[in-house]
Amino acid sequence: MTSLNSLNEILEAVKNCKKCKFYKFREKTVFGEGKDDASVMLIGLSPGKKENLTGRLFIGPSGIFLNELLQLAKINRELLYITNIIKCHAHTYSIGQKEITTCSIYLDKQLEIVKPKVIIPLGSIATQYILGKYNLPKKRISKIHGRLFKASIGDLFNTGRDIKIIPMFHPAAALRTPELVELIKKDWQELYKEL
Ligand code: SF4
Repeated sequence: MTSLNSLNEILEAVKNCKKCKFYKFREKTVFGEGKDDASVMLIGLSPGKKENLTGRLFIGPSGIFLNELLQLAKINRELLYITNIIKCHAHTYSIGQKEITTCSIYLDKQLEIVKPKVIIPLGSIATQYILGKYNLPKKRISKIHGRLFKASIGDLFNTGRDIKIIPMFHPAAALRTPELVELIKKDWQELYKEL
């Protein structure tokens, strides 16, 4: 992995990756979208069916809701970098710790290259991964959604300052649990104050 020094090199590695069973379901590679020096990085879980067929991120119903949330937060989607922890469609399988550990090497490299100042993990699994990665205590997304955490990153990104982490519910949670819609919207309306 040490030779992966650019987003293109990571993309090529992901295109050819067979490190877990999900490679069998990969149609188009769903890698990452946006500015390669974005200040804000959104991290979801894994590509859905539509994303797998098109190679685009967040284009299904949860993507439509995400666009609405970005408008509430006054964030231009084109100025973000958006990716997932798991790069291949999981089909009907659950995503376990084994796949997260295996695939997150690519996300870690993306973080090293993009060097975001703000990370917004979407949903429980992305949140637990990011909190653990930056040595912050893991807490349930239902308890910490919309809250700001600061991680000391030392020389890793060479920015000389802390990184902000703001966990959010995954937009798909609103599709599964409509009672969450207003709560999620409120979190994003308040998010712009932190950016
Ligand atoms: S999900 Fe990740 S680790 Fe598994 S095959 Fe795809 S790129 Fe490789």
